[in-house]
Amino acid sequence: TYQVHIIGGGLAGSEAAWQLAQAGIKVRLSEMRGVEGTPAHQTDSLAELVCSNSFRSDDPANAVGLLHHEMRALGSLIMAKADKHRVPAGSALAVDREGYAEGVTEAIASHPNIELVRERVDALPDGRVIIATGPLTAEALAGQIGSATGEDALAFFDAIAPIVHHHSIDMDVAWMASRWDKGETKDYINCPMTKEQYLAFHQALIDGEKGEFKEWEKNTPYFDGCMPIEVMAERGVDTLRYGPMKPVGLDNPKTGRWPYAVVQLRQDNALGTLWNIVGFQTKLKHGEQVRIFRTIPGLENAEFARLGGLHRNTFIQSPRLLDGTLRLKSRPNIRFAGQITGCEGYVESAAIGLLAGRFAAAEILGTEMAPPPPTTALGALLGHITGGAEIDSYQPMNVNFGLFPPLVDAKGGRKSKSDRKAMYAERAGEALKDWMAA
Ligand code: FAD
Repeated sequence: TYQVHIIGGGLAGSEAAWQLAQAGIKVRLSEMRGVEGTPAHQTDSLAELVCSNSFRSDDPANAVGLLHHEMRALGSLIMAKADKHRVPAGSALAVDREGYAEGVTEAIASHPNIELVRERVDALPDGRVIIATGPLTAEALAGQIGSATGEDALAFFDAIAPIVHHHSIDMDVAWMASRWDKGETKDYINCPMTKEQYLAFHQALIDGEKGEFKEWEKNTPYFDGCMPIEVMAERGVDTLRYGPMKPVGLDNPKTGRWPYAVVQLRQDNALGTLWNIVGFQTKLKHGEQVRIFRTIPGLENAEFARLGGLHRNTFIQSPRLLDGTLRLKSRPNIRFAGQITGCEGYVESAAIGLLAGRFAAAEILGTEMAPPPPTTALGALLGHITGGAEIDSYQPMNVNFGLFPPLVDAKGGRKSKSDRKAMYAERAGEALKDWMAA
């Protein structure tokens, strides 16, 4: 027997299960992979990273880095395994995706308080449940959630970036460097483009054949942080040069100067055999991706371990539907966690899983648990999901300092951007300490 049923063993479900189990509570964790796949996952491992292998900035003066820091303080399993399987990526926290996911799976599967069951759940259970089925929630359950929330779950699109085999990259053309590096960090592979090459590449993206849209996919907005490269190209000839193909701070050792544009690749596994093309999520047809991406200098003979693709994203109107501890107001035995609540990103999904697990544990143990203060990254993110946002415009969002209460500058002076970020981080650190003590 179990006290909480968690549906979905992704980032959020795994973290929620861990938090409950560590609090001494018996959990059943149902994960359908192993029995049935999703359009994006490629393995049966829990907490699989479906696209990029990056947890983004690890700097606490960055909102997502601050979230890392707070999650570590609360014993996050996802962060512990990410730290253990870290690969070089400058100031970002990137991981060996297989080692990391296997580490999470092993920790969950061997925990005495967790029963991991490979099954698809189609109906909402009556007992205490956490729904953490993510952006690709299986259809039958999505239908049930739609009925329970009294409206259709929304859908929109994200796209995934291609991954290239390292041995197929021409390192006589490409070079290793981090932006603005002074020689000490060389974490990215950089492919330089001249103006002519860039313009031709830009045109090829615009002319390239795109994947078909199904009827239900029409008129669904893209989330800005994951916009397909060809859609960015359509916005203007220079959009890419100011976005993922930005050359600033990248001296080409051959010329001693910045190229006109740069394509960057980031290490994707611990062995360093796989590299993903940064920011190149796309809905171009597979054959077109191979043809067009092989016009990038250095990638003429690129072999692709995975090509880019399009995916659905399901999430609920949380600000209207959920209470302050992530329970469905109309059926408080049901909690939601992860991307289905309308947060965006691996770290954010895991963070909301962490909170859902802790709220459920406190409820069962009969202890008081106040929500984390809004000045912390956890509290700011939770506030966005369960209260802050305008109902009509509720869209998935990454954690950012815009979700935090503004800084009140006692001295009335203007602060530089970096000072302000450090102040957010400092204020959050103190608030978290007080909250944890309480
Ligand atoms: P998931 O990690 O998807 O976990 C949900 C789990 O529930 C899955 O394992 C699924 O198999 C299972 N499940 C679903 N329905 C059922 C059911 N009925 N019964 C049992 N099990 C079920 N974020 C980033 O930070 N960086 C990225 O690069 C990035 N790229 C993305 C690319 C794609 C294709 C997608 C879909 C999302 C991407 N995201 C990215 C967004 C988000 O961070 C991830 O989707 C993240 O995995 C969400 O975590 P989650 O725990 O909410 O859901």
